[in-house]
Amino acid sequence: FGENPDGSLKEHLKSSYEDWLPPYSRRMRVVVTGAAGFVGSHLVDFLMKRGHSVVAIDNFSTGYHMNLLNWMDHKNFVLYTHDVRLPLKIEGAVDQIFHLAGSASLQDCMIDPTSILTTCFQGTMNMLELARNCNARFLLASSCGAYGFPLWHRNPQSENFLGSVKTFGRRACHDEGKRVAESLCYAYAKQHKVEVRIARIFNTFGPRMRIGDGRVIPIFILQCLRGECFTVIGDGNTSRSLMYISDLIDGLVELMLSDYTGGPMNFGKEEEYNLIEITEIVTKAVRKVRGDKFRPTKITFLPSRKDDPMMRNPDCALAREQLGWSTKVDIDQGMLETVEWFAAMEKENWLYDVE
Ligand code: NAD
Repeated sequence: FGENPDGSLKEHLKSSYEDWLPPYSRRMRVVVTGAAGFVGSHLVDFLMKRGHSVVAIDNFSTGYHMNLLNWMDHKNFVLYTHDVRLPLKIEGAVDQIFHLAGSASLQDCMIDPTSILTTCFQGTMNMLELARNCNARFLLASSCGAYGFPLWHRNPQSENFLGSVKTFGRRACHDEGKRVAESLCYAYAKQHKVEVRIARIFNTFGPRMRIGDGRVIPIFILQCLRGECFTVIGDGNTSRSLMYISDLIDGLVELMLSDYTGGPMNFGKEEEYNLIEITEIVTKAVRKVRGDKFRPTKITFLPSRKDDPMMRNPDCALAREQLGWSTKVDIDQGMLETVEWFAAMEKENWLYDVE
């Protein structure tokens, strides 16, 4: 991806974190795995804008150099193209490791489940070894997938629920992978005294989401921007909670800094929207962005898919009590920022991936 001649897209990629109060009191050296992905690149922005030194690690299986474009030449930034399934040594002190490498996408689970599992197990173990060698604090980006199928138990889900996961479902590689990664963290904490934090992340959206990963937000936004029909899977009653990316980054940073070691912690938006409501939210944002050029789109219903959770809603009382964390960004505001980004990318023909 080349530089946009007038710099406008690069400017657009600068997120709105600049206004935030710095949460760190001193400069740190922070490793971020999965740094070129959706969540990782926003975390890198957050850390770099506060003057920290970042070691970004990614094998670019689903991530993009473009997501790190702002920092490539920065003196506080270094990028290692590395697969976390292989051991890694880093010279010098490291304060924190945010281990985000991995995928949350059903599409990826269907294409290469073995890689997803080995990244969860071998990748997490290698990065825990790195934390052990560097004496760094370690945060794992786990997932609500660790709870398994939500229809069979209480919704919203709190950390007290121990899970209902199949070893053989379509999402098993991700769900069981995250469970074993969590267990590895606790094994390293107990056996090797590594300080670990575990974030169970619920559906998150925002600029830089991958188009080809099969998630509903990028699909709906592109369909609406292009005036194509929305494809709703099932009868439209499936619901999702949608957290904006800046709220998640806030939570990950707060958890990393906190003294809480009691177990995994949920991060998500405590509001559910069904798919029809989500098409309406997307339409509202696209109408604002497109102005006179907006064309309304219809909905096509497709058959439900096996193992797709019908609902997924977090209980985030623990994060509120322990960190004082709660989501701040309203869904309409987050959707507008996301649609603006997708529209800018579409205009520059920079939309990547299989659609
Ligand atoms: P993403 O696909 O955008 O980013 C993942 C990054 O990890 C990519 O840059 C990819 O190239 C890299 N990666 C994958 N395997 C790797 C390997 N073996 N070695 C090195 N790098 C590797 O996904 P995301 O949405 O940014 O998710 C980040 C993390 O958060 C993942 O662990 C995911 O499971 C978790 N999570 C995300 C969500 C969400 O809604 N985005 C929800 C639950 C959990």
